[in-house]
Amino acid sequence: MTSETPSRPLPRPTAISAPFWRAAAQGKLLLQRCRRCSSFIYYPRPFCPTCLSDDLEWKEASGRGTVYTYTVVRRAATPAFADKVPYVLAIVELEEGPRMLTNIVGCPPEEVSVGMPVRATFEKYSDEVGLVFFRPDEEAGNG
Ligand SMILES: [Zn+2]
Repeated sequence: MTSETPSRPLPRPTAISAPFWRAAAQGKLLLQRCRRCSSFIYYPRPFCPTCLSDDLEWKEASGRGTVYTYTVVRRAATPAFADKVPYVLAIVELEEGPRMLTNIVGCPPEEVSVGMPVRATFEKYSDEVGLVFFRPDEEAGNG
């Protein structure tokens, strides 16, 4: 029953988003930052959603955040995810402010909680594409 599992759908980098995916392939989380109003921006786009400036730069993020909300997926939406269930689909609020739709990995789904400190972890698919997931941040302590 394990034959021909369809592969995971991967992002197709655009001129705007390519630096983000390439950095993730190198184990780095890059965010756009607006030079005019200093907002951090995610997802990648041509203009700052706060002040509409197009004067954006790429900055490496800390990779730290907290779980803002999450759900446990028990039934795969497509066959490509059939061998991944159950998995945690979450919105992580990054230390820099933006929120990312991602997966929590590295712990059983029942150990995930809202507000839990997490840290970015990366899966490389090619030199141009890596995906960003988050795992429990043990260094954040239990306090
Ligand atoms: Zn701005």
